[in-house]
Amino acid sequence: MADMNNDITLFNELIEILLNEEKKNPVADRIEANKLYASLDLSLNESPMVDDEFKTALRDVVISTPKTATNLFFNQLFGGRQSKAVLGDLLAVMLNNSMYTYKVAGPQVGIEQEIIRKSCELIGYGPQSNGTFPTGGSMSNYMALVMARDAKDPACRSKGMTKPMVIYTSKESHYSNAKNTSFTGIGKDNIRYIEADETGRMIPEKLEATVIEDIKNGFVPTYVNATAGTTVLGAFDPIDKLADITEKYDMWLHVDGAYCGSVIFSEAYKHLLKGVERSNSFSYNAHKMLGTPLTCSIILVNDKKHLHNSFSNDADYLYQTDGDDFNLGKTSFQCGRRNDALKFWTLWKSVGTSGLTQIVNQQFELANVARNYVKNHPDYTLYSFEDSISICFNYKNIDPTTLCTVLYEHQVTVVGFGSFKEDTFVRLVTVNANNTTQDILHFFKVLETFVEENPSVFETKDEAINI
Ligand SMILES: *Cc1c(COP(=O)(O)O)cnc(C)c1O
Repeated sequence: MADMNNDITLFNELIEILLNEEKKNPVADRIEANKLYASLDLSLNESPMVDDEFKTALRDVVISTPKTATNLFFNQLFGGRQSKAVLGDLLAVMLNNSMYTYKVAGPQVGIEQEIIRKSCELIGYGPQSNGTFPTGGSMSNYMALVMARDAKDPACRSKGMTKPMVIYTSKESHYSNAKNTSFTGIGKDNIRYIEADETGRMIPEKLEATVIEDIKNGFVPTYVNATAGTTVLGAFDPIDKLADITEKYDMWLHVDGAYCGSVIFSEAYKHLLKGVERSNSFSYNAHKMLGTPLTCSIILVNDKKHLHNSFSNDADYLYQTDGDDFNLGKTSFQCGRRNDALKFWTLWKSVGTSGLTQIVNQQFELANVARNYVKNHPDYTLYSFEDSISICFNYKNIDPTTLCTVLYEHQVTVVGFGSFKEDTFVRLVTVNANNTTQDILHFFKVLETFVEENPSVFETKDEAINI
């Protein structure tokens, strides 16, 4: 007991240090990987470390860890920190339940089910729908693909693959699709990458043409992965048109909304998911747009029998008893399962659905600020499109890979780059809803100032050609 209290006190001290540090140095000093062990005492030793030394070691690690919650972190599809969600996650750690049975998780099961039920309602899934919290977006996609495979050929759960299945996804979709196709036994060679249009959306006509060709060649079209928020451009595949095709050819339609599926909370932007109620499964990551701690991924299934058929160890799903509704282990991939629901619930409960709407809308507003800035400043070239929270641009012909690397190495700001078709560019992600317009303008300012003050670090592409 005394130990616990001391450790909570220490925790609070460390968090105060961290929060101050985040204000003072929004980008942590970079430690080169080959100097890591020389810079920090990470060694594990025979004898225990005593209090003061231990505290110092922890403080050093905390301070030197890359900071993902500050106003200069734009590198990933997550960022920032919703404090009510942090509160929930800290409670989840203390409670330390496992989500497989009602006996050991009690009301936490109800919390998870409430989030799932509300989410299903928001996307227009009916009373047969349900879902679960996988370990992340990649796992959500994996579970969707397993259900699609088993729906197409129930015998494959016991006999293994017997049909030459093929699956379809856009070239711009997440790389987990490739991994998952190999894990499920379908095989990576049996993915058809469908071309995207100029704004990064899968082209339905190309999909249908490929499906027809595959059927002609004896393949079994099984699954279409639509993306709601592609990794680079943040584009939304046209779900309604894809659903026309999956219904016509009897394929599973999964909507991967890991990045931007949270638009379900926004009246202004949920039209980007038009047709989602026709999908077989839909997933979204609350740890991306909604700012909960990692990880918090939800997969919803239009007909819950598929969850049971693929993930329950019992015989085929017949009917669901009340007991099963509260014994979530029957529909999950893992056995022991972390409580990822509570952090989302504390956030949702405390700000209300209207608060989640604001979190989502704020990101689109910040994206507009960034896009307008880029459009109105001649030194910039814009590559991205409306209705996206990924703003892709180049600055003064500077090679984007060099620019991002140098900004990171000099602790100016952490931002990444991406490519679409022929172009490579800087990708600014306005996923941190705690940021303000000022923070976005500040980002451009620090970038421009750094380039101006360090001309020797950069040579433009043009110059490189001239030399
Ligand atoms: C982030 C992302 C994933 C993967 O989610 P993880 O939680 O990182 O596994 C899958 N698909 C898309 C579109 C994503 O943006």
